[in-house]
Amino acid sequence: MTIYTDTVWPQVRAHSWKYRPRTRDITGILWHCTRGGQWYDGDTELGAYMNWCKSPNNRNPGAPSMGIEPYAGIASAGIGPGRIIECVPDGYLPAWSSWPSDETKISVEVAQSNPGQPIEAATIASCVEYARAMAARYGFPLERVMPVNDWTWVGMAGHEDTVQGRASGKTDPGPEFWVPFLAALNQEEPLTNNERTLTAVAWGDYERMKASYNALVKAGLIPDEGIGTVDDLNSAVVKRGRIMELVATNPDKAAEVIK
Ligand SMILES: [Zn+2]
Repeated sequence: MTIYTDTVWPQVRAHSWKYRPRTRDITGILWHCTRGGQWYDGDTELGAYMNWCKSPNNRNPGAPSMGIEPYAGIASAGIGPGRIIECVPDGYLPAWSSWPSDETKISVEVAQSNPGQPIEAATIASCVEYARAMAARYGFPLERVMPVNDWTWVGMAGHEDTVQGRASGKTDPGPEFWVPFLAALNQEEPLTNNERTLTAVAWGDYERMKASYNALVKAGLIPDEGIGTVDDLNSAVVKRGRIMELVATNPDKAAEVIK
């Protein structure tokens, strides 16, 4: 049974520079975040990433005279809220997400537009589902490791953790991925209502944040400052601040109103 909810492989396959035959065993997962730079929700961000995977413009000419064949920036899979999309099947190397880790890893791009943006709980849940399925299939431990050699590590690492990633200043996937992901993977205490509230009001779920803000104004818990219908960046920052303030000072009332 496939773990994937969808695939873009038929389109990717048409572009021979985006993959190579896999010749080594799979020994872990390499995690990335998409970071397209917009303030998209996870679903939109994942769609944008998939368009990039399919695009004929996703082609780096390489340096054939130096033995570097043309390649793309691509991973094995992309994950967003409730969606796990196949880009390149496990029998092929995606060329490349982080070489040489790609030679022995499956790589995943997690939907997150910018560093610091919270990742939706549904995305984290899909990451856990994918990681468990792949660990069972290929027999690697679900533990985060810090590679000292990108050829030989086993388990899970972030792009930020690999030798290649550190050398090029990568920060993905970052704490917004690792903290909830490892907690969910290790089945630690689920988030409290107020932690959920804080997650919901943050950038990753902007529509929900607006709805929460308007509900709190309506309930009289936040004064109406006349910014409830303005969707620009400044009003979003103010709204988020008001909600977080209320959750910190009156968590029970906030939790009653915010679902
Ligand atoms: Zn990366």
